[in-house]
Amino acid sequence: MTAVQQPGTERREEIEANLADVGDAVQRSSSVNSTHPPRLVAVSKYKPASDILAAYNNGQRHFGENYVQELCEKAAELPSDINWHFIGRIQSNKCKALAAVSNLWAVETIDSEAKARKLNDAWESAGHPHALNVFIQVNTSDEESKGGVEQHQVEGVACTIAEECKKLRLLGLMTIGSIEGSHQCPNPDFLRLCQLRDDLNAKLGLNLELSMGMSDDFEHALELGATNVRVGSRIFGSRAPKALQ
Ligand SMILES: *Cc1c(COP(=O)(O)O)cnc(C)c1O
Repeated sequence: MTAVQQPGTERREEIEANLADVGDAVQRSSSVNSTHPPRLVAVSKYKPASDILAAYNNGQRHFGENYVQELCEKAAELPSDINWHFIGRIQSNKCKALAAVSNLWAVETIDSEAKARKLNDAWESAGHPHALNVFIQVNTSDEESKGGVEQHQVEGVACTIAEECKKLRLLGLMTIGSIEGSHQCPNPDFLRLCQLRDDLNAKLGLNLELSMGMSDDFEHALELGATNVRVGSRIFGSRAPKALQ
């Protein structure tokens, strides 16, 4: 582990204040009926390691990244008790690099049976003693451009993971949802994910989590039963526009 530069005072205070606000909102919004206490994943893509350290020094342990190389670089220089979440699109040829990160806590974006098998093999080859948590990403809005498994295929992927992927532990379902859906209340993408989860739990005897909600709608997602929210800009500030990413 190389030394990460400490954040400047002003930046540190900004992240501290944002994290406290979001943390309070998570506590307030979480449904009293949920069986898991909600988990806040601080999404740190494009943000420097010093920003992550500022949040870490305030007790934050779960961080999310979208790019394998960026995650690997940050994991190498930041504390090893960080719980990393990979939340970007998985490419088969990057599974090995991803599996080399021993404190990778979850991959939230399993989008096919083939990639589940690939990741399982990579995790096994890397020799980690424990199983890797995974979420199946579901295309709840049926948009062509959206990543994730089609809704009618989720059960098949869940069964493949349970039966064939002994080094993976199916933790839950995840959605990003459509822009249109995010303007509706209740958000139809979140409702679909809940329904799918309830059906799967009943059918397969599972107790799956729900990863849904980002900066603009995590409070709403928590009210609908999210157990894992992925919040970036509300903690670390805005990122460069999509075209530049
Ligand atoms: C970037 C990203 C987030 C965080 O988005 P914000 O709107 O900045 O909170 C959450 N989930 C995924 C999959 C992302 O790519």
